Amino acid sequence: TERTLAVIKPDTSEELREEILGEIRAAGFTISWQKEMVLSREMAEEFYKQHRDKPFFSQLVDYMCRGPCTMLILSKENAVEDWRKMMGPADPSKAKETAPGSLRARFAKDILENTVHGSSSSQHTQEKIQLVFGEISSE
Ligand code: ATP
Ligand code: MG
Repeated sequence: TERTLAVIKPDTSEELREEILGEIRAAGFTISWQKEMVLSREMAEEFYKQHRDKPFFSQLVDYMCRGPCTMLILSKENAVEDWRKMMGPADPSKAKETAPGSLRARFAKDILENTVHGSSSSQHTQEKIQLVFGEISSE
């Protein structure tokens, strides 16, 4: 099995979070670890550091710190790719065209407030799990 780090971002209602968690389980993922946390600016900047030079970086950090995130370690065969597929593309208008059943097609507000995050490689998974879950990252 493979692991990925998933985040339900702060724009989601309690009800939508439960819906997404249900869909994650129904898709065959095991939720190995789950916690709610409000990211500090420093953590959000570190989390998305590869986008530091993008014009939307400060908006992205503001958004990620606005309220509690649900942090998840998901386990399953092919978890990284399968969770990215389940999310769909970052831009919901593109998601509606190319992946209409995806979470972002159905639930994202716009390209910034797009509901969910997923690691894009196993190296990213390791880094983000270390950042978010620290002490349990080698389990
Ligand atoms: P994520 O990393 O959150 O899983 P992604 O890998 O699909 O999303 P990235 O290109 O890594 O997309 O962008 C990271 C996040 O930055 C997006 O999820 C979105 O919240 C925000 N973002 C991306 N592009 C833009 C943009 N053009 N304008 C505003 N925000 C953006
Ligand atoms: Mg990304």
